Amino acid sequence: MPFSLSIKNELARVFPEQRCCERSELAAIVSLDGKWSEDGKLEVTSSNAAAARKVYTLLKNLYQTENRVSVRKQRRLDKKNLYGVSAQPVEQLADDPLAQPDTDALPSKGCCRRSFLRGAFLARGSATNPNRGYHLEFWTNSKREAERIVGCLESFDLAAGISPRKRGLVVYLKDGEKIAHLLRLMGAHRALLRFEDVRIMKGMRGQVNRLVNCETANMDKTVQAAMKQVAQIRRIQEKIGLDKLPPKLRELARLRLEHPYATLTELGDLLTPRVTKSGVSYRMRRLSRIAEDLGAG
Ligand SMILES: [Zn+2]
Repeated sequence: MPFSLSIKNELARVFPEQRCCERSELAAIVSLDGKWSEDGKLEVTSSNAAAARKVYTLLKNLYQTENRVSVRKQRRLDKKNLYGVSAQPVEQLADDPLAQPDTDALPSKGCCRRSFLRGAFLARGSATNPNRGYHLEFWTNSKREAERIVGCLESFDLAAGISPRKRGLVVYLKDGEKIAHLLRLMGAHRALLRFEDVRIMKGMRGQVNRLVNCETANMDKTVQAAMKQVAQIRRIQEKIGLDKLPPKLRELARLRLEHPYATLTELGDLLTPRVTKSGVSYRMRRLSRIAEDLGAG
């Protein structure tokens, strides 16, 4: 299921305990997706069935209205369904400054602002699958709508960006930490778990990649050092012959030529008696000095 849809389906089932919060959530959706007719009737339209269901239930819970639900195909675009909920005149809601289409009013209590964000996300939110990247946005019709959502996010220390779209503006978050915080605030706990799982996996993959890169770099260094040793031993062989070397150095030089890719520890294991890595390293340095004296860098 697309990440956006799973967030919305989850949010549609989250009902705040307090009436003040229920009112804020409904007001957010109504202000963004609602239309008032002359006689005070309300119609809320959404392309998301879960959001429409939420509006229906909140209207019933708060104002005991008789609601009608309708479904119709969108004429343009991908012919998605459009869900409409229409309700009888609801004076309290019509008088609520929070529910007006062009306002900058925000709920004063934190609990209500969280519910407001949940409503706004149900109406206009979408989020990219975290596997593909961290992006969450609210689509808005006007600068005022956008700034209102930005203001609400800011009240929770979530600094959001605004950018223009073909029609309207989007308010967006791009930071994984902030998106996780918002999911928590809205009460999308399952979506938050899914999101955090991906973040942890990505973090681990990054760590593994760093380790592998580090190991590759070390391996390159070992191979380069070995190639240099082989070249120097060959030079000694050409100039004076390995037989002229003291027995311990001669044995190591021969071993190195036979095993150009062995590590110093492995060479030490092949020597009789066994020699430690630092012992091998010491002998290797002596070989290197002899080669340098013979004019090989
Ligand atoms: Zn509240």
